[in-house]
Amino acid sequence: MPGFEIFGAEERKQVNEVLETGVLMRYGFDGMRNTHWKAKEFETAFAKRMGAEYCQLVSSGTAALTVALASAGIGAGDEVIMPTFTFVASFESILALGAIPILVDIDDTLTLDPKAVEIAITPKTKCVMPVHMCGSMADLRALKTICDKHGLILLEDACQAIGGTYEGKPLGSYGDLGCFSFDYVKTITCGEGGGIITNTEKYALHADHYQDHGHDHVGKDRGAETHPFLGYNFRISELNAAVGLAQLEKLEGILKTQKENYTILREALQSLEGVTFRRVPEGGEENYSFLNFFLPTKELTQKVHKALSEAGIDACFYWYTNNWHYINGWEHLHNLKSLGNLSSEVKNQMQDLNATDFSKSDAWMSRTISSLIKIGWTEKQVKDRARLMSEIIKKVLNK
Ligand SMILES: *Cc1c(COP(=O)(O)O)cnc(C)c1O
Repeated sequence: MPGFEIFGAEERKQVNEVLETGVLMRYGFDGMRNTHWKAKEFETAFAKRMGAEYCQLVSSGTAALTVALASAGIGAGDEVIMPTFTFVASFESILALGAIPILVDIDDTLTLDPKAVEIAITPKTKCVMPVHMCGSMADLRALKTICDKHGLILLEDACQAIGGTYEGKPLGSYGDLGCFSFDYVKTITCGEGGGIITNTEKYALHADHYQDHGHDHVGKDRGAETHPFLGYNFRISELNAAVGLAQLEKLEGILKTQKENYTILREALQSLEGVTFRRVPEGGEENYSFLNFFLPTKELTQKVHKALSEAGIDACFYWYTNNWHYINGWEHLHNLKSLGNLSSEVKNQMQDLNATDFSKSDAWMSRTISSLIKIGWTEKQVKDRARLMSEIIKKVLNK
């Protein structure tokens, strides 16, 4: 997945153009910037690539989620439905606005189970936030049907699935809003950065103002601009945007290489008795940034994971016991440990996570291993990896 594997002359050229003018900010300084508007250029190119009307760049993927929620009018006491398998950014962004994360089970897609979503809806629910983890997507058609029926916002977290598609549309462009991360380990990176896409003009305008202290961006004098509503600072710097612009040019090549490497690995593993794969919803195509597979039991999965790592096979993840990606590792959220006092809405409405049954999620996650797909592997390296992984899995399963 990581675009950092192919950082090179193109990124340096873009950054140098910014450094030569010294205008590191995305707004203003028109005379000094020698016509360079890297953030604006990236936004135009990204919206086009993602088939969306609008794009707003921000300082991180977490900022993208926060700004997207804020732009859709979500605030204190509003409930946002999110999956048990994701990154901590999901609940961080919700809590940052005083809204309430409502965690529900995943299914064999490793993303939100639409049935669990429907059960979790209350009069306070405002938004459903599927997270397209590890390169593949939620059942977006089912989720959209639910959202339409209940008048909810569908916000896709596509941070780990850039370039994947669903019913022919780029992931992130199917819902009301889509969010991306360009942090250092994502498919394309700008060091730190994030993006929001939408076709709704109102959300785009809200995002534009909110991420820059409420600035309305009218006219040529920043100091004279008005602030129609309260905002914050989630701006991206011109330097980061410059890197992203060069990386975006490389996206198609990255996706092509990922698919080739993924296919070699998958073909080797699919002949093994006992190995099955994560379900990709009908109409979807992964971005091939990970190969995600299931083994028959939790015990066998843990044994295989240990054996793979002892054999020196890197980048195979067992999320079930990971501190950052699965609910079991989030004791700070379970116990609402925060530095300061949380709002009464959060304290009153938050589920008791210690007493909620997530055994359906456990049943999938405890049997899941994800192999990262690198783009720098040679064909021989992928084939060696495929052979070694197959041998190890076979040996553990046949014991
Ligand atoms: C990386 C990631 C984020 C947050 O992105 P940052 O840029 O690191 O803040 C959010 N959601 C998912 C699924 C991610 O993988």
